[in-house]
Amino acid sequence: MNIPFVDLKAQYQSLKPEMDDAIKNVIDNTAFIKGPFVKEFESSYSQAYDVKHTLSCGNGTDAIYIALKTLGIGPGDEVITTALSWISTSETITQTGAKVVFVDIDPDYYTIDPQKIEEKITNKTKAIIPVHIYGQSAPMDKIMSIAKQYNLKVIEDCAQAHFAEWKGERVGQIGDIGTFSFFPGKNLGAYGDAGGIITNNDEYAEKIRMYSNHGALQKHHHNIEGINSRLDGLQAAVLSVKLPHILKWNELRRNHAQTYTTLLNNQPVKIPKINNDGKHVFHLYVIQHDDRDGLQAHLKEQGIATGIHYPTALPFLNAYNYLGHTKDDFPHAYNAQSRILSLPMYPELRMDQIEYVVENIKSYQ
Ligand SMILES: *Cc1c(COP(=O)(O)O)cnc(C)c1O
Repeated sequence: MNIPFVDLKAQYQSLKPEMDDAIKNVIDNTAFIKGPFVKEFESSYSQAYDVKHTLSCGNGTDAIYIALKTLGIGPGDEVITTALSWISTSETITQTGAKVVFVDIDPDYYTIDPQKIEEKITNKTKAIIPVHIYGQSAPMDKIMSIAKQYNLKVIEDCAQAHFAEWKGERVGQIGDIGTFSFFPGKNLGAYGDAGGIITNNDEYAEKIRMYSNHGALQKHHHNIEGINSRLDGLQAAVLSVKLPHILKWNELRRNHAQTYTTLLNNQPVKIPKINNDGKHVFHLYVIQHDDRDGLQAHLKEQGIATGIHYPTALPFLNAYNYLGHTKDDFPHAYNAQSRILSLPMYPELRMDQIEYVVENIKSYQ
């Protein structure tokens, strides 16, 4: 049996007639950049998410950068974020001219450890970027109370956590600004690059729209210099077709995770720990194993594709050598990076496929 890591074809097949129509409609209308399809997606995302503003942009990396610029982050500032994420979370901080300050993860949940945030706060600290990694919310109440105490802004990186929740609230609108990636493999994915930003703050919404559109709210009226980061009509139309299915897809992911967890009981692997204060949306199902590389190679031989998110935690990437960090600075992120393995996870995953993956984990001892 061959099991892909994600199966975008299966999802396309399930939506094909509607999807093909939607794409054709954009082309018939030659509404390629911004325009009615983008507007429609933005308003349906706001409605579905129950948030005041959704501002689309080119990708999830730009979304974080635009959020940082909107909050006025720049040279001389420091921004705190987690040691375990995709590099977008930290490189965008540096791009503004600010300094990245990493904090170790909680070893069970993989999200930023709120106990370790305070010791990293200085008089230059302006913001915290928690990442809802793998689809599980960071402990937002603790983060928000630290932010309040020190007057810091909070940008939630929700690239892996569309519609995830913390204590009954959807992630992305607990802090000041929430950012999303609609990269094809994410829980809600376009057919190319796409991103979005949500906020309940009118002033931020206007700044976000202006900054991502060359500093203009009206054509040729450039109030500031901005960047060019926009969603195109084709991606917006694809996302509008998929949006009504997201809650059901997240539920399927949660069910598959539960099945993996049940079947992997009593095996020498560490299964994901779910924080009961949140609602996990299982972008990724990540286990740990003493011989991760051996297990991954074994699964590959059996036709099972897996991933590692991520093989090197952010502070240990060459890109951050200049910060001079050692493994003792982030022991939990360091320990995780050589042990974590992401198993196949997508809504269309079948029971027999999950069983096949588990059988092959069991046969590798
Ligand atoms: C995917 C991802 C991003 C970046 O999204 P792109 O759309 O690829 O730019 C940012 N942060 C995290 C945690 C991600 O997983």
